[in-house]
Amino acid sequence: MAFPPVLRLAFVAGRVYMHGKNFEAKTNSAKLFGINDESAARWTGYPLLKALAGVGLIVKICILASSSAGNSAFIATERTRLLIDAGLSRRELKKRLAAIGEDIANIDAVLVTHEHSDHTNGLSALVRGAEGRSLPVYLSCGTARFVDWGECAPPVESFQAGRGFTVGDFDIASFTIPHDAADPVGYTLTAEGIKVAIVTDLGYVTDSLRVHLRGADMVVLESNHDLEMLRVGPYPWPVKQRVMSRRGHLSNEVAADFIRNDLDTRVSTLVLGHISEHNNHPELVRNLASKALRGRELFTRLVVAEPGMQSEVFCY
Ligand SMILES: [Zn+2]
Ligand SMILES: [Zn+2]
Repeated sequence: MAFPPVLRLAFVAGRVYMHGKNFEAKTNSAKLFGINDESAARWTGYPLLKALAGVGLIVKICILASSSAGNSAFIATERTRLLIDAGLSRRELKKRLAAIGEDIANIDAVLVTHEHSDHTNGLSALVRGAEGRSLPVYLSCGTARFVDWGECAPPVESFQAGRGFTVGDFDIASFTIPHDAADPVGYTLTAEGIKVAIVTDLGYVTDSLRVHLRGADMVVLESNHDLEMLRVGPYPWPVKQRVMSRRGHLSNEVAADFIRNDLDTRVSTLVLGHISEHNNHPELVRNLASKALRGRELFTRLVVAEPGMQSEVFCY
């Protein structure tokens, strides 16, 4: 929706201001408006500012899929629509985008985290389906060498892992993550003063990750397996070793440790995803993470991305 630049500026300034306030101030503001403790957890002052400015959302995010069966996330401003990974078929991506009112034909670019098939299965079909329209694909130099494009030759924008770049409205930072892929990265995407981090498929939490996640408004983090379920589960021992290794996946316990020790107080929504269907259960993830959040007395909203399902739409 178009709206006057002055109101837009006031809205964004208000958001930044409210996010900068500490947790107590947010709660007190919420109480002033008669908002109870539970909804205070979600209070940021934005809805009021939004209403005053008469604007819609500024940044829209949806986790289209998050599990070893396929990963893709949608993030957009009014003008720029991106996918992070394309681990679903084009048809499924189209369907899930349509479910949130988005047209696959309007995607401006795809960012890839690494070459594993659960992140790239639908990539070449997505690019082919763009039908003459340029659909740039951003991926690290090492990952670029491992993606099989088949017949199509998309405009590939490869970058050194750790480098930042801009796509439309988004300032994007990439950072290396420890995982058994060629050159895997996590991303933070910032637009309109809102910073979103997407980090899955990593064996442990690095110092660089801690730094990059500072100041994020929304974090999508892996909580892949319950260690005990993995130990007694159906995977062959070498696969179990791989998953548990420092180039494997984050366990629920390590994700909870991250919440306890490192989660920035600014994070208003934490999505835990890439949950194993064989070695984990969403309720285990929820219980452990909720406990860790309570221990910090954070008002961060916890969302567990159920395997196979697309998430709600998050609006900022
Ligand atoms: Zn994966
Ligand atoms: Zn992977």
